[in-house]
Amino acid sequence: MRTGFRTPLRWTAWAVGLAWIICLPLFPAEKPDDVPNPLAAGNRFVGDNAAILGPEYLELIDAVCHKLENATTSQLAVITVKDLGGMTIDDFAVRLFRRFGIGFKGKDNGVLILCALKERDVRIEVGYGLEGVLTDAVSSRLLDEEAVPFLAKDEFGHGLYALAKGVAGTIATAQGVSMEAADPSAWPAQPAFTVPTEPTTGEGKSGPTAKNSGSGPLILAGLAALWGLIGTGAVYRKYNRTRGKAVRAKAIDKANGVTGLLWTGAGAGFIGLLASHNGFGASLLSLLSPTAVTIGQGLFRKSLRRRLDSYHLPCAKCGAGMDLTPEDQDDALLSVEEAAEEKAGGMDYEIWTCPSCAAQERLSVEMNKARECPKCKRRTLKETSTTLETATTSHGGRVRVDRNCLNPKCRFAESRERLTPKLSTTTAGTGLSGSSHSSVGSSHSSFGGGRSGGGGASRHF
Ligand SMILES: [Zn+2]
Ligand SMILES: [Zn+2]
Repeated sequence: MRTGFRTPLRWTAWAVGLAWIICLPLFPAEKPDDVPNPLAAGNRFVGDNAAILGPEYLELIDAVCHKLENATTSQLAVITVKDLGGMTIDDFAVRLFRRFGIGFKGKDNGVLILCALKERDVRIEVGYGLEGVLTDAVSSRLLDEEAVPFLAKDEFGHGLYALAKGVAGTIATAQGVSMEAADPSAWPAQPAFTVPTEPTTGEGKSGPTAKNSGSGPLILAGLAALWGLIGTGAVYRKYNRTRGKAVRAKAIDKANGVTGLLWTGAGAGFIGLLASHNGFGASLLSLLSPTAVTIGQGLFRKSLRRRLDSYHLPCAKCGAGMDLTPEDQDDALLSVEEAAEEKAGGMDYEIWTCPSCAAQERLSVEMNKARECPKCKRRTLKETSTTLETATTSHGGRVRVDRNCLNPKCRFAESRERLTPKLSTTTAGTGLSGSSHSSVGSSHSSFGGGRSGGGGASRHF
């Protein structure tokens, strides 16, 4: 009975999930969460996502970073991005720093140099462990003296190389290590670059921006509508294929399940959109469609219920609409066990009588307010659980589970105590943010897991 309905629904859930994954690349790229980790990608500390460095400067800067790590264990990452997607460079840098985990765990000896091409912003984000060395004043001076003079002339390679060298030199000096690196005999030419005209995202902006970020919520809305329609269709099919009032009422209630799944999906999508920095408003848009579907389903359910009120099971012999014996009168037509099952809520029995040929039909359907009794096998088992002791973080809890059979011919009864595990102190991550981030580890395909607290300085050039 159940599988016939559940299978299409499960299929739909899978299909929507798959479609959601396929559509993910359509979401605007280059937010802090989308910037690739250069260490993981190619054992580099430099990620030139804005394509403004060229191979020679990339090599030069990367060499400075590797040398710094070898000499001091401090990690310096230099990342360029086309644009900040509506974020401030400070927020973007903090987020990116946290995601990469630059510097080693416990030491927090990481530094991030972030340069945004479109906004013409540059920032030094300093890990906790280096805040005493690279104070905000030192960072500001390095930016003003080493970077901005070149960056302002669009000499990005030269400017970021000089800045990286200045940062590395400051850290090395503080540790009493020499980090003399000879500059190239001739400065490589600054490669040609293109400044993005259209931002890749639009947080709270209008115009061409909104067009771009709108696609995510729209896709999600479409998926939600499709999901709702297919789910509702499944409910309708189930309704029409079954015989009997209780079964049909059960089918209608399954629409709740469809709505529940819909909101689970919509909630996950909403969080995903928020996490990919679509903006709160744009992400909220994605919830409009499930709301509409929910309202539509509510109306649909109401109309099915009304239809069920005037339902008459067609007589198998003559085809006439049969009459249902009212619940309070059908006990006489049921056995003691059956009446007990109906009373306990484990079964529903319907006795239909044909007014024209007097034929009778009995329908039975399982209800889930009572379970099957292990002794008499009737669906008359009631289970209640009482908490004797609530679980805390320091000790587990105790729960008493009483199971009683309401079949008067059986009267099975059992009482058991069950221990519940103590509450864990760590809260699990949401796991819903959608993208899998490279995690912190000691292997060299990843940064060391260092943290920053917003220390550093930014400049517009
Ligand atoms: Zn009949
Ligand atoms: Zn029993």
